[in-house]
This record gives sequence, C-alpha cells and structure tokens, in this order.
Amino acid sequence: MHIGIDLDNTILDATSAHLQYYNQASGLSFTADDVNDFYLYRLYGWDKTERDAIYNKYGHDIHWNSAPFPMAVEILQQLFNQHQISIITARPLLFLDVTVKWLKHHNINYHNITLIENKLQECLNSKVDVLIDDGPHYAEEFALVNKPVILYEQPYNRSVTNVLVYRASNWIEVKKHIDYLGTKA
Ligand SMILES: [Mg+2]
Repeated sequence: MHIGIDLDNTILDATSAHLQYYNQASGLSFTADDVNDFYLYRLYGWDKTERDAIYNKYGHDIHWNSAPFPMAVEILQQLFNQHQISIITARPLLFLDVTVKWLKHHNINYHNITLIENKLQECLNSKVDVLIDDGPHYAEEFALVNKPVILYEQPYNRSVTNVLVYRASNWIEVKKHIDYLGTKA
C-alpha cells in the first residue's frame, strides 16, 4: 500500500513542544490538559498574524525538540519495509530542513516527503491508499471521497466518527489498522 503519514501529533508530540515555546513567548502556562483545539495558538488568544510571527520565530526549535510517540519509530521501520511511505505535513517550506534533519536524527525512513496544506489533493494525485493523521478536517474530507484515514487520537478529534475513520490511540493500534487494510486491498 501507499501510506501517507502526518508528522505533528501523529508521529511526534507536537503539543508539548508548542506549549513549551508558546508559554515562553506569552508568559502564560498552559498544559496539555488545556488543549482542546487543533489550532493550539487560539488558546493564547492570538490571531493568525500574531501566531505566524511567534511560529516563525520559534518553529525551528519547536520542531527540533519534539519527541516521537512511543513505538512510532519502530513501527514506521516495519511499515517502510513493506509499504510505500510518504510523509505529508502541512508545515511551511521554511521548516523543510529541520524536518528532514529531525527524521534522520530519529532514524525514520520514508520514500517521499511533501509539505502541503491540501493533503486530500496531494493524496489523490499521488494515489495514497490511506492517510494517518490527527486533523479532524482531513478525516472528514477523506471520508467524503471514500478514502480511509487512520485518525491518531487527540483531544480535539474525538467527535469525528465515520466508517472510513479508523481511530488509533497509539502506534500499535495504527499497525493493526494498516494490517487490516492490507488484507482488504
Ligand atoms: Mg498533525
């Protein structure tokens, strides 16, 4: 299968790193328990412009200092040996270098990497069979065109339910869903 895989809050814990640097920038002290929105910056009361300024300043450090989720690296290695792996992230091109370095540093292998906001179009163009992602909007868009999504469970995506949305709360569950989808392919 051709598997598309998101980075932030799917392969790695982006929430912790964002909170650390956004707290530093704002003087506030939010924790993971406060996060219930895919767009974490809204917690800080920032608009998009304020968020972009902070993100452009701290983004490199945020991305470099994010930790992979438990078992993500091991299972990605297994998937890489059996499938076509495309990393598909909505991070801006500004952070391509740190992203590639981070993947290398953590020994994560992949066949392609694409930085793009319109993941659905990218997945249709490159014939991705399944996307692994935490974004509730992606899960809903994919369901509309009958494409399966493995939704990496986060506080802000609990309300998404669809027969083509396979929920996973850890990488062991991701692997089980991939194995199941592989038997149907
Ligand atoms: Mg994500």
